Amino acid sequence: MKKELVCVICPNGCFLEADVVQGESGTEVRQVEGALCKKGVKWASQELVEPLRTIASSVLVEGGEIPLASVRTDQAIPLEAIGRVMEEIKKITVRAPVRIGDVILVRPSGAACNIIATRNVSPKGGQ
Ligand code: SF4
Repeated sequence: MKKELVCVICPNGCFLEADVVQGESGTEVRQVEGALCKKGVKWASQELVEPLRTIASSVLVEGGEIPLASVRTDQAIPLEAIGRVMEEIKKITVRAPVRIGDVILVRPSGAACNIIATRNVSPKGGQ
């Protein structure tokens, strides 16, 4: 079966055509045409077999100058895990101060990533 997709790795946005087979052990990518480089071939194979995404969200902050701190996954995770990870993130409240890079959650819902802070939140009143 032919699958068409546009590579999102760089601004070239190569139009790719992949030859995909559904075997007993799952989806198999036999060939990718149209990529100007190997990164696109690798990305298309990953995207068609097990798509990965990063998540950006926010968590509640107690005692902070602002009520939320932005967070993200420190690496891409399977698309099918995103709902479970978002549910874990929604349950979290942290105490100020929060610093960029602080690990907020380790392996949420068993996913192979950590949730890290992407903004500083000082304590209310600069304590
Ligand atoms: S295949 Fe290579 S050159 Fe083309 S968009 Fe992807 S990364 Fe860029």
